[in-house]
Amino acid sequence: MAAVFTRLRASALAHKSLFAGQARLASTRPSAAGSAATNLNGSGPVYSVMAGAGLGLGAFYYAYFNGFLPEHSVAKGRLGLSPLAKDVSVVFVLGGPGAGKGTQCARIVEEFGFVHLSAGDLLRAERQRAGSPYGELINNYIKEGQIVPMEITIALLHQAMKESGSKRFLIDGFPRALDQAQCFEDEVCKSQFTLYFDCPDEEMLRRLLKRGESSGRVDDNIESIKKRFVTFHETSYPVVEYYSKMNKVKTVSCLNPVDKVYEQTRSHFLHL
Ligand code: UDP
Ligand code: MG
Repeated sequence: MAAVFTRLRASALAHKSLFAGQARLASTRPSAAGSAATNLNGSGPVYSVMAGAGLGLGAFYYAYFNGFLPEHSVAKGRLGLSPLAKDVSVVFVLGGPGAGKGTQCARIVEEFGFVHLSAGDLLRAERQRAGSPYGELINNYIKEGQIVPMEITIALLHQAMKESGSKRFLIDGFPRALDQAQCFEDEVCKSQFTLYFDCPDEEMLRRLLKRGESSGRVDDNIESIKKRFVTFHETSYPVVEYYSKMNKVKTVSCLNPVDKVYEQTRSHFLHL
């Protein structure tokens, strides 16, 4: 329980820094340069102030590009997320709603020791967090089968990755749109490959309605499911096509019993 609180508090901090990130960096640079100039030159001639500012900026950039600054003082990229270890690797797990991603991910975790992060689960946890400013927003997007603004999802994923201390992740149900894929790869980590669970809509519908009998999820009902299918085909599937063109997709057919599907799934992890 305590761990849950710590995680969610940390994710709130991530949000804070998320939106403060750019302003913080923008305001840090000139003031660092300005104080260096003041210390060196007092009220001396203009050229000395400029030289001081130049020195200050030079020192900042030198430290920045050589990794001498502590993580929290460097806002990386537009979201201001702190960098992860260089050897962190990520496999994206995609497929329509109800394709069986969660079930297969659990098996991969067991056999290959990845950490499984479901974007949907992280969003649902944030929705439940007392005091979250995003609870209602997340709930509305999920019910409508729409994609939650990526700043929130990426901050939650980044936070969970940091806290796990692991180096190998299965990121399940994300990225759900091309811009999310690009933003995550630019600002968090490149993906190793994408595991795509291919399943016909009729089969997914059957599974989701079955799951809806007991899942208690606000989106496991026929109205939400129809909207989720539209979002998947129109917005999320292009991510699979994008990585396919780069030869970075490994496809698994879902129309088999779980064990059989897993045989195909695991084959993609044997030579990593
Ligand atoms: N969702 C989102 N961004 C994500 C992942 C999930 O906005 O990166 C939202 C979206 O509204 C989606 C819902 O969460 O329909 C449920 O996602 P989940 O992955 O749990 O459902 P699944 O597709 O696995 O059934
Ligand atoms: Mg899922």
